[in-house]
Amino acid sequence: MVDLGTPLAEVKGIGARRAEELRSVGLVTVEDFLFHLPFRYEDRSQFLPIAALLPGVRGTVRGRVVTAVLRRTRMRGLTIFEAVVEDQSGAIRALFFNQPYLRTLLVQGREVILYGEATPARWGRRGLVLQAPQFEVLTHDDQEAIHTGRTVPIYPRLPGLSTRSIRRLMHDLLAGLPPVLPDPLPAGMSSARGFPPRREALERVHFPPADDRLEGSPGRSPAHHRLIFEEFFFLQLGFALARRRSDAAPSEPGLRVDDGIRARLRAVLPFHLTEAQKAALKEIAADLMSARPMNRLLQGDVGCGKTVVALLAALLVVENGFQAAFMAPTEILAEQHHRSFQRMLQGSGHRVALLTAAVKGAARRQILQGLRTGAIPILIGTHALIEADVQFRCLRLAVIDEQHRFGVAQRATLRRKGERTDVLVMTATPIPRTLALTVYGDLDVSVIDRMPPGRRPIQTLLRGESARGEVYDFLRRQIAAGRQVYVVYPLVEEGERADLKAATAMHGRLSRNVFPDRRVALVHGRQKPEERDAAMADFAAGRAPILVATTVVEVGVDVPNATVMVIEHAERFGLSQLHQLRGRVGRGSHESFCILMTGEETTEEARRRLEIMCDTGDGFLIARRDLEMRGPGEFLGTRQSGLPDLRIGDILRDGDILEDARREAFAVAAAPLPPAPGHPLVRHLQGRWAGRLGLIQVG
Ligand code: ADP
Ligand code: MG
Repeated sequence: MVDLGTPLAEVKGIGARRAEELRSVGLVTVEDFLFHLPFRYEDRSQFLPIAALLPGVRGTVRGRVVTAVLRRTRMRGLTIFEAVVEDQSGAIRALFFNQPYLRTLLVQGREVILYGEATPARWGRRGLVLQAPQFEVLTHDDQEAIHTGRTVPIYPRLPGLSTRSIRRLMHDLLAGLPPVLPDPLPAGMSSARGFPPRREALERVHFPPADDRLEGSPGRSPAHHRLIFEEFFFLQLGFALARRRSDAAPSEPGLRVDDGIRARLRAVLPFHLTEAQKAALKEIAADLMSARPMNRLLQGDVGCGKTVVALLAALLVVENGFQAAFMAPTEILAEQHHRSFQRMLQGSGHRVALLTAAVKGAARRQILQGLRTGAIPILIGTHALIEADVQFRCLRLAVIDEQHRFGVAQRATLRRKGERTDVLVMTATPIPRTLALTVYGDLDVSVIDRMPPGRRPIQTLLRGESARGEVYDFLRRQIAAGRQVYVVYPLVEEGERADLKAATAMHGRLSRNVFPDRRVALVHGRQKPEERDAAMADFAAGRAPILVATTVVEVGVDVPNATVMVIEHAERFGLSQLHQLRGRVGRGSHESFCILMTGEETTEEARRRLEIMCDTGDGFLIARRDLEMRGPGEFLGTRQSGLPDLRIGDILRDGDILEDARREAFAVAAAPLPPAPGHPLVRHLQGRWAGRLGLIQVG
């Protein structure tokens, strides 16, 4: 008998070699394999007569191969394999391109099932064809009942296994399981929701009975619902227990705020906070003043003014005699924060130090010394901050700006530099709620949902290569009026030399040929820090009206006099990234523009995607669309972003189940005696999210 925990290598019919292949895609145990769910189901209780196929409609037919030929075409290298399949009602041609090996599968006389969309034949032929349909050859062995005469599962590919062999394996594994699988959920939770028992749920997601509701939304049958709930419940329980643990950790008493401190905070402000900023600051201050450490995510669209809120939080901490650290993802950003903190804190008497990889030798030693003695109360920097020899006298607040650029482990390292570190992470890529709950499930969230006064919408335009001349004329006029412009060139991956060359070449062309009378600054990630500083400073001070940059300016850069953002090859960027880039302009009182330049080979689909940018300036809406189009992994960017590997739950589709599971999980963790190590819930949680549990903690 097999069990869920049985290694695949020990399963009859899989064997050591195949088990090794499956391990390479993360499937190790029987349970892993059983959670490789069908992406669609096919009703094979009835087939469509071939004669009933209509153009543009998907359908499943069953018939016999009457002829099968492989043709070479006049186009070099292109082969077409053509099989004519016939049933009692008629015949249809199935075409496959460049798959000559199909000769050995779709052999004359064999009975096959085809699934696809019929389209009118081309090249002067009549009738309908199925182009590259999915197919399955029937063998009429004693197991045929698994594959026909019912609703059958169709699986995503696995190495070395056809959908048919996956189906057979699933069937055998399910048959070999013990008759009852224990329910890992707390008592009563399943019955309250009317979930089928676990074993039945597993059976039904693979081999649904004829009456299961599957149409329209595969993956939302009651059986799916159960398994998705389970997955979300244990993930959220991990967050909830981590949260409970950190709340219970012995903590320093909260900070104190009196009128004197309030007055000193007000004194550094060059403007009035917006209501949204005040509300966020209030939530943060309440955390700082409470006995339990802060774990908060501050979200807000680009330009909404998060930095100043973080600065006031830092000041509150410093006025109480503690230290604050502020970590940013790029040197440019850290330098900019350093400048603006210094400017705002000038009259306060508090020192602000900057630590990046560029700070070396004696200067670095001096800073480390100041941190240890407490002479430096506020430190701003990049990843350099988390190096082992950076030690504080009494770090109390860690602010992590543009947190999606950092890994979970990096955040944890910074947190551990203090006894009780209150953590504030900030993001300008608004994260839709369900994604936030999945990735930052143990955080409280504050949202700044209003812009500072006086902001005007940024006009966004889509332009092709043919309009380049006009675009340059427009830039010239803006510059003549005293404004400044960014020209951003994609550097898709750090270290792509070709793109870097293109950015450098663009800089050369603009400075020599297009704007020979103007200073054109250049910044990119491979420059020496001094060069980059000088270029940034030239632009920030208005000495250079044009800044050519790779995406190093994506996050945070703040030059209010800049009014035009030109983005070359806009089609190569994700929407959220474009929105970030666009957010570099529209920061002052002048009307601002974002010009999305598209390359020649831009597809229709890419253009439609870019048009979303022209239609809306709402970062939350854009994030949602971006997430839908690219999926959570791409959306968040890095593997280390903390996105858990969900097997069946889909944060876009299953938001309702996620919310339900989260409520229950936090209720369980809030019990007077929450589940402790060794408890079945915790054991199941560790089994499912092993290795990730320790990291579930922004830290
Ligand atoms: P982000 O939230 O994207 O990090 P920043 O903190 O960089 O945004 O703020 C964007 C700009 O708005 C900065 O120039 C900042 O000085 C300005 N700003 C922030 N809050 C206000 C406010 N309440 N009134 C006027 N300007 C503000
Ligand atoms: Mg910012």
